[in-house]
Amino acid sequence: MPKILDGAAIAAQIKQEVAEEVKRLADQGVRPGLAAVLVGHVPASEIYVRNKVQTCAELGLFSELITPPDTVTTEDLFDLVSSLNSRDDIDGILIQLPLPKHVDAKFLLDAVSPAKDVDGFHPINAGRLQAGRPALAPCTPAGVIEILKRSGIPISGQNAVVVGRSDIVGKPAAMLLLHENATVTICHSKTRDLAEVTRQADILVAAIGRPGFITPEMVKPGAVIIDVGINRIDTREDFDRFFAGNAKREAAFAKRGSVIVGDVHPAAFEVSSAYTPVPGGVGLLTIAMLMSNTVRAAKMRRGL
Ligand code: NAP
Repeated sequence: MPKILDGAAIAAQIKQEVAEEVKRLADQGVRPGLAAVLVGHVPASEIYVRNKVQTCAELGLFSELITPPDTVTTEDLFDLVSSLNSRDDIDGILIQLPLPKHVDAKFLLDAVSPAKDVDGFHPINAGRLQAGRPALAPCTPAGVIEILKRSGIPISGQNAVVVGRSDIVGKPAAMLLLHENATVTICHSKTRDLAEVTRQADILVAAIGRPGFITPEMVKPGAVIIDVGINRIDTREDFDRFFAGNAKREAAFAKRGSVIVGDVHPAAFEVSSAYTPVPGGVGLLTIAMLMSNTVRAAKMRRGL
C-alpha cells in the first residue's frame, strides 16, 4: 500500500513552528505583518484571502486586508503597493491573483519590494533562488520540499521529474529540488515522449492544471508522487473517469455537485510508494509557507 503524505499534519507542524517564532520575536518587540490586497469579488480569491488573514490571527501575526473595487486602476494599485513598501509594520505584501484584466499584474508584482515579496514572485527573488542565495521562495514549491523532507523522503541523487514550467510552481519547484541535489528534468507541453520521461522519475511532481493527466503507465513503480494540481470537476462523466466506485467521493459529489481532483489520476497513486492526496496534500502547505515566508521576511529585513 502506498503511503499517503499527509499535508494537514505537516502544515500544522509548520504553523506551530511559526507561532513559536512569532512569540520569540514578540519578546524582541517585533510583530511580523502581512498586507493582503484583494481586488474585486472573485469568490475563490475571497476564500483564499480570508483563510490567509485568519491564519495570521491564529499564529499571532499582524494582518491587514485591503479590498479595492474591481474598477481600480493600475496606477492606484501601484500607489498602494508603494505605500505598503514603505510601512514598517508590514513585512509581507500579498497581491491576490487573478487581478482584473485591465490591471497590469506583472507591473504590480514587480513593484512589490523584493524584501516584502512573500509570494516569491519578484524576478529578484526568482534570480536569487536560481543563484542559490537567500531568497523568499514561492510558497507552493517551498511546500513541496517541506513535504518531502518532513516525510523522510530522500531527495539527494534522486531523479526528479517536474511536469509543468510555470514561474509560480514548476520552475521554482525544479530549482528547489536541484538545490537539494536531485537530478532534475522539467517537462512541458512540447516534451516528446512524456511518459518515457516521467517513468524515469523517483520523485514525480505534477503541476499541469489538467485533471488526472498523469496515468498509471506514466509512473515508475515505487516512485513518490507529488500532485500539485487542483482541478474542479462537475460532470458525471469526469467523476466516473476518476472516482467510479469511491463511496466517499460519491457522497461529496452528490452534496456539492463537484469534487476536486489533482493532475494525477487516482489509479496512478496505486503504482507509487508514497503520494500527496488532493485535497489534503500540497494545497494545505501553501498558507503555512506564506506564514513562514512572512516571518522570514520580518527577520531578514531587521537583520535578525
Ligand atoms: P500553468 O501556469 O497553467 O502551467 C501549467 C504547465 O503545465 C505549463 O508549463 C504547461 O506547459 C504544462 N502542461 C500543460 N499541458 C501539458 C501537457 N499536455 N503535457 C505536458 N505539460 C503540460 O499552471 P500552474 O499555475 O503552474 O498550476 C499547475 C497546477 O497546480 C494547477 O492545477 C493549479 O491549480 C495548481 N496549483 C496549486 C497550488 C496550491 O496547491 N496551492 C498553487 C498553484 C497552482 P507549457 O509551458 O508548454 O504551456
